[in-house]
Amino acid sequence: MEGKTSTKASNSSEDPSSTPRKRSGVEEGRVKRKVEEQTEKVAKVARCREGGQGTAGLTSEAELTDSDQDGSGKNSDDEESGEKVLNRSGVKKSVDEKGEMKQELKKVTQEKETIVAKLKKSEDEKDQVIKELNKAKQDIMNYRYLTGKSKNEKNHLEEELKYQELENDHLKHKVETVTQERDNSKHEKDDVKHKSEQRKVKLDKVTKVLEELQEKLECPVCLAVPREGPVPCCPSGHITCSPCLERLRMQARPGRVECPTCKVPMEEGRSLLARVVIESMQHQCSFEGCGEMVEHKEYNQHQEACRHREVICPSNYCDTMMAFCEVEEHARTCEDISFGFWKVPVSEEQAQDASEIKWNSAMFNDFDGATFFLQILKEDNIFSMDVVMLGSKEQCKGLKAKVSITNPVTKEEFHMSTFSPRPITDTNDTEDASLIIRHSTIAKGWHFNQETKQFEFEVKAKIYRR
Ligand SMILES: [Zn+2]
Ligand SMILES: [Zn+2]
Ligand SMILES: [Zn+2]
Ligand SMILES: [Zn+2]
Repeated sequence: MEGKTSTKASNSSEDPSSTPRKRSGVEEGRVKRKVEEQTEKVAKVARCREGGQGTAGLTSEAELTDSDQDGSGKNSDDEESGEKVLNRSGVKKSVDEKGEMKQELKKVTQEKETIVAKLKKSEDEKDQVIKELNKAKQDIMNYRYLTGKSKNEKNHLEEELKYQELENDHLKHKVETVTQERDNSKHEKDDVKHKSEQRKVKLDKVTKVLEELQEKLECPVCLAVPREGPVPCCPSGHITCSPCLERLRMQARPGRVECPTCKVPMEEGRSLLARVVIESMQHQCSFEGCGEMVEHKEYNQHQEACRHREVICPSNYCDTMMAFCEVEEHARTCEDISFGFWKVPVSEEQAQDASEIKWNSAMFNDFDGATFFLQILKEDNIFSMDVVMLGSKEQCKGLKAKVSITNPVTKEEFHMSTFSPRPITDTNDTEDASLIIRHSTIAKGWHFNQETKQFEFEVKAKIYRR
């Protein structure tokens, strides 16, 4: 136990818990000293005992007898009895001392045990203190760590706060700018509103003037406003449209045409002002069902593509005239139009005859959903084919129709031609057909069907965008 304590004591100089250790060292020293003292006492008692044996003889009756026997040869009987009395009292004394010493020893042993127990307790306490110290040390480290951490966090928060403040300033500035801009735009809006109100007032005035002028420009005969100049007028300035004046001239005696308004003789007058007004005003589309008001310079362009323009059925037989927007509906019921392509039949008789043959027009769509018609007819031993688009001239631009003629059995393509499709119009002029093929060319490639006793060939058309 002493060795263990000394080892611990030598380590105590390195240990941060040196103070409690020192205290326990002091305690240890004290205990040590006490033990030494007790040991000394014990030794002293032992020495005394040894001394007693030399002077007062043995400590027991048996020992006493033995010693008596040892000295019997040397001493006389009287001396012997006197010595015996002396020896008895000495023995008694020695027995008392021995009892006392035993008591003392017992006491010392008890004290030693108490001291050892105390030492053990102080050792435990020491361990406890060391444990607490370590815990405190750990706590300090934790505290330092937490302090450092919270310091970092504080710095971080401070930085964030700074950034937030900057952001706030920025936002504030932005809000100010936006507010300023809003105010500005409000002013601008008010300004624009004011200007537009002024403009509207002006426009109303101009419109009113134009309406009045337009009334004055109406032909008194057909009640239409002429769209083309020059505009004929009487010496008083009344105007008439050119077609009406032409009719009046034909009806009246030569040189006796009167102004339909004031009846004065019409001369060769032309109104320059009327022409200027006509060219600067809007005109109503003349096609039935349209009625759209169009600028003078856009009038012809509008009519070319007007959905209500008059067109002819794109088949070869049917001559039905209809509005452009009605063609698709008509095509579904027209007997002379078929959907998709088919084998073109030519009877033996027709193959010999040079007279005109017409077939149904094939209606088809391209990838963009536009509608086309393939027209085929034969006249004077010439096949003519055309692709008609249900669209305007403008829409036909950039399109190519590829027409191929094949043998329906061998699938051999014996003729192919590419040309521009034409827009649907109010005439089916076969003279200008795009594809012209001699009868002999077709006859070289066609197939004779034994069952129907007819010649057959297939015609297909496909649309490409350039
Ligand atoms: Zn007229
Ligand atoms: Zn007149
Ligand atoms: Zn129109
Ligand atoms: Zn038709």
